[in-house]
Amino acid sequence: MNIDNKVVIITGASSGIGEATALKLSEEGAKLVLTARREDRLKDLQKKIEERGGEALIITGDVTKKSDYEKLVEKTLGKFKTIDVLINNAGLMPLSYVEKLKTDEWEKMVDVNIKGVLNGVAAVLPTMIENKGGSIINISSSAAHNYFPGGAVYCATKSAVKMFSEGLRQELAPKYGINVTSIEPGAVATELTDTITDEDIKETFKEMQKMTFLEAKDIAEAIHYALTQPARANINDVYIMPTEQQ
Ligand code: NDP
Repeated sequence: MNIDNKVVIITGASSGIGEATALKLSEEGAKLVLTARREDRLKDLQKKIEERGGEALIITGDVTKKSDYEKLVEKTLGKFKTIDVLINNAGLMPLSYVEKLKTDEWEKMVDVNIKGVLNGVAAVLPTMIENKGGSIINISSSAAHNYFPGGAVYCATKSAVKMFSEGLRQELAPKYGINVTSIEPGAVATELTDTITDEDIKETFKEMQKMTFLEAKDIAEAIHYALTQPARANINDVYIMPTEQQ
């Protein structure tokens, strides 16, 4: 598939992997719909894309709210008439040990990392089924393969995303030509660790930061690769680790 002129929705586009993916796909000619809660950051990104000759619609919203998704789809179809790709990227990672019972943070992770992905799929699927084609990229994590300290709930949410992706692929790819990919990165240098409130875990991450992390643009390249294979080839998983990470 060629990404040129394809209509691509990216959630969590206001920073990190979402922002890098927006820049990469816009360079390749995609028409973008960028969503997140921070409007100022989305506007800065939109300006950057437009200065480079690209096209991006920004729509602020919260992935945990179905009504925000309804508006997003309505506005996307209003402007671009179709939806070719959904990149379910929004996520957070407030790590802590289970015994600390930070249940509010568990709930947020379940709401954003799992329900956010489900809401996104539910919102775009009628259009993709009608089109008999499309691509869904879900950002899971190496956390779907390996537990790390304080990550019991986060790893569970990312395992859910990986398995949901496989179920989606088996249901949608043969019947409707809708390709589904789970992207599973190790440590990427982004703002994700800012959501950690637990002091012990923050210390662990300081130690880890001596390692060379992946860059957000590395994941953007992986997403571009998954999206640009021939329609006959579904890239199921991309599991990508920093060379120095165990
Ligand atoms: P960032 O913190 O830079 O990006 C997270 C994005 O999610 C932000 O744009 C944020 O936007 C958005 N977001 C968070 N909550 C919501 C919400 N309720 N509604 C809408 N948007 C929301 O981190 P990354 O770029 O690293 O994270 C992107 C994805 O990659 C996440 O799913 C993460 O779990 C995954 N990942 C990251 C890894 C890493 O090491 N960095 C490794 C493996 C996977 P805003 O606050 O403006 O709403």
